[in-house]
Amino acid sequence: MPFVYDFDHSHRRPPMELKDLLGGKGANLAEMTSVLRLPVPHGFTISTDACRAYMHGGWPEGLSAEVKRARTRLEKKMGKLLGDPVDPLLVSVRSGAKFSMPGMMDTVLNLGLNDESVQGLAKQTDDERFAYDSYRRFVSMYGRIVLGIPGEPFDTLLDEAKERSGAASDADVPISQLHALVFAYKQIIRDHTGADFPQNPDAQLRGAIEAVFGSWNGPRAIAYRDHEGISHDLGTAVNVQAMVFGNRDDQSGTGVGFTRDPATGAKGEYGDFLVNAQGEDVVAGIRNTEPLSALKDKFPKIHAELLAIFGRLERHYRDMCDTEFTIEQGKLWMLQTRVGKRTGRAALRMAVEMTTDPGIRLTRGEAVERVTAEHLDQVLHPQFAGTGHTVLTKGLGASPGAAVGRVYLTADDAAAAAERGERVILVRTETSPEDVHGMLAAEGILTARGGLVSHAAVVARGWGKPAVVGAEKVRIAGRSFSVGATVVNEGDWISIDGAAGEVALGQVELAEAKASDEFETLLGWADAIRKGHLKVRANADNGPDAANGRRMGAEGIGLCRTEHMFIAEDRLPIVRRMILAEDAAAEDAALEELRVAQRADFIEILEAMDGLPVTVRLLDPPLHEFLPDTSELAIKEATVGLDAEEQALFEAAKQWHEYNPMLGTRGVRLGVIKPGLYSMQVRALMEAAVQRVADGGKPVIEIMIPLTVTREELALARGWVEAAVTATLVSAHRSTRRRLEVLIGTMIETPRAALRAGEIAEVADFFSFGTNDLTQMTFGFSRDDVEGRMMSAYLEKGLLKDNPFETVDADGVGELVRLGVTRGRATRPSLKIGVCGEHGGDPESITVFADAGCDYVSCSPFRVPIARLSAAQWVLAHAAPSASATKKRASARTAATRAPVRKTAARKTAARKTAAPKAPASKKRAPVRKTAARKTAARKTAARKTAARKAPASKKRAPSRATQRLAATKRGSSSRPPARSRAR
Ligand code: ADP
Ligand code: MG
Ligand code: MG
Repeated sequence: MPFVYDFDHSHRRPPMELKDLLGGKGANLAEMTSVLRLPVPHGFTISTDACRAYMHGGWPEGLSAEVKRARTRLEKKMGKLLGDPVDPLLVSVRSGAKFSMPGMMDTVLNLGLNDESVQGLAKQTDDERFAYDSYRRFVSMYGRIVLGIPGEPFDTLLDEAKERSGAASDADVPISQLHALVFAYKQIIRDHTGADFPQNPDAQLRGAIEAVFGSWNGPRAIAYRDHEGISHDLGTAVNVQAMVFGNRDDQSGTGVGFTRDPATGAKGEYGDFLVNAQGEDVVAGIRNTEPLSALKDKFPKIHAELLAIFGRLERHYRDMCDTEFTIEQGKLWMLQTRVGKRTGRAALRMAVEMTTDPGIRLTRGEAVERVTAEHLDQVLHPQFAGTGHTVLTKGLGASPGAAVGRVYLTADDAAAAAERGERVILVRTETSPEDVHGMLAAEGILTARGGLVSHAAVVARGWGKPAVVGAEKVRIAGRSFSVGATVVNEGDWISIDGAAGEVALGQVELAEAKASDEFETLLGWADAIRKGHLKVRANADNGPDAANGRRMGAEGIGLCRTEHMFIAEDRLPIVRRMILAEDAAAEDAALEELRVAQRADFIEILEAMDGLPVTVRLLDPPLHEFLPDTSELAIKEATVGLDAEEQALFEAAKQWHEYNPMLGTRGVRLGVIKPGLYSMQVRALMEAAVQRVADGGKPVIEIMIPLTVTREELALARGWVEAAVTATLVSAHRSTRRRLEVLIGTMIETPRAALRAGEIAEVADFFSFGTNDLTQMTFGFSRDDVEGRMMSAYLEKGLLKDNPFETVDADGVGELVRLGVTRGRATRPSLKIGVCGEHGGDPESITVFADAGCDYVSCSPFRVPIARLSAAQWVLAHAAPSASATKKRASARTAATRAPVRKTAARKTAARKTAAPKAPASKKRAPVRKTAARKTAARKTAARKTAARKAPASKKRAPSRATQRLAATKRGSSSRPPARSRAR
């Protein structure tokens, strides 16, 4: 295998598919050169193979000879020699891994210049200023990028030179100053390295290539790959390319252009350019750039040529492309292209419009694959409205959604301000478990340090709170923070956008999440694709949430938590009376009152979901959650004393106190102790159903028993449920009875239940995996304790790949799900199986559940669209590339149901073998042909990226405040679910 390929090398496959070998930049340069025959300066690519060989055993044998030959070919094509004192060839050395990566070596321009060749260049171009400007750029770049010398001394000298000569911009620095700069730069290099700046072009080239190889293992590159899940074994390619000069004169320039607007998706070119400039000047903000439309006035011919190229690129890549170009003395050169990144809004619009674009003609399936969960997440959260705000600083978008509030710099101050009714943004250098109460109280969180798995990021995502982390320019001092010269004091308003990572001063106007026409269209296509496979339901506990879930496309309710009905202000006293009841009569009286209240709730929910299944989970949490906090009462007792009622509650609270409530008297265990409870709930539900039928509705009811661990338990509970159903229906009309469908099933949320699913299925019509508790119990992790305290450390140390509460642990918890499905269906082939944990809204988890053969997933209403998309993408991923849509579906279905376990195993191995791909795959993925591996990769990325970005609905439970928290969920709490409670 050769190590070096010219851009015009004829490969057996289209070079754009050879990113593994040539890197992204090299593959696309070769595609533009040899397939599209666009004006690209000649060059060659040193493959990733060479980099891998270098990492294992140093500079590979034979590489020098190959580079030499490639260089000679290049010199021949260009008619110039590298380092020639008369008419030198100059080259750029550009890194380019399969995925573009911050932390990789920057591009070195103008390589080949030295004290002699610079004079040749000056003579050839008859422009000494240009030649020395190029030389000073090269020496400083070489010093900084290849030799690793800090940039400041170079910049300082340039600034001084500009000041001395009164030059307004770099382009105005006079020749005399440029000579002096080159001299001084070389001195800096001597001081820092103890060696002279290399004059020999061979040495320059070798140095630059090695620096690119070496940068693969630089700390920033490693950190980035860790975060993105990109394999460290991929290596990077190196591109060596003949220079063209945008800094030649006023007929020259450099620019970047997109074939469509990457922010809105609107058709038509979009971009910036700069006259008489080189390389990164456009993005460096050194001078004001001009929009591409200005190119039309200045260089109409070039503008037209560029647009024609844009058209060809779009048709060729069948997607929006992002380009870099340079104009040298009136001639256009293309220097880079790739499929461009885009916002969620743009992704939706482009995907839909490209299906009817005659040059592109995406299939609907391809359109669905173009959109990621992250894109949907962006459009489903509030964002900054418009672009009018000025960004104070940027950090990492760690948890999407925008928030506006007053700045507080400690958790205590934040909590106190929130208590006063203020909206708060908590600003910290970084957060720790001691800050959790302040984080809870805040609308949003901003930290100066930390990455996407820092404490702040992990906790905020878990709660669905907007967060920007690692905003490195933020300096906190006492009761204020500063960004450069701007000081922001405690109590000042700021706004953050946790998707874009932006921080702005003042109260930025927010745009509520709003679904566009394209959103509806694309999700409609996704629904058609997944039809007959995976259904998507919503978790909803009240009428408004149910209605919202339905609007979001839910096909039923997968989890209706009845405890929320118990905690409403008007209900709590009744619940407490039931708990305190001293005899059966008092208990019955309280239960009777609750029944009437619950019935009204159920009517609302059944009405909102009319015709669709509603899974009602009978009471689950331990009873002490409905009682006041014992420590508060103890204090009150010791100080002002307790009245009789308080005394009774205190006694009950002490009596019901549990050392480990998560593993205590809850779920069906509670039913065993208080048998009247479940009967009451079922009667309330069935009465509501009868009422609905009478009103012409079609209720579809599934009654779910929580926390079952044995068949006997479930059989007992089933008996109560059946008795209560019968008791309610006796009095109902026959036709009503006929029209009522009731299934009785159980949650599978303990390892034992999953293991004994075979016998539990004997008495269950359906299973619903409660993957949150199943994760807690499988890992032995108490989520509330572990997530705030140690999860970020586990992720940073690589002890866990993902937070298992965000992305289901496919190997452990996933194995229990697969076992449960297989064993349950072995007993009862028709067993309906769903998932109702928050994982049901996580793309990567959804593939695990779909592979296991589940019938549906259920998640918070805000995640429903993402689940619909992910389910469709799962179906598409199971299809053979050539098969028709229907065939695809059929095969995916059989595959998934027949051999779920083996199948997953195979997929996993496949994924592991391809090792790397994980990350930016989604951004750069080749639109048309894709291998299974690439798909998995792309999906993983999407999953990882959005990972936790749960919709505002994800919630956090804070046990000590259970009561207030649950009270906050009282009906009508809008479609935005409560901040601090989550499904167990
Ligand atoms: P990045 O990966 O950061 O985009 P590039 O390798 O694309 O780095 O280089 C950055 C810029 O340098 C390019 O956009 C282009 O303007 C300039 N550049 C790179 N190679 C050449 C070349 N051969 N001739 C002229 N300019 C070049
Ligand atoms: Mg570039
Ligand atoms: Mg549970």
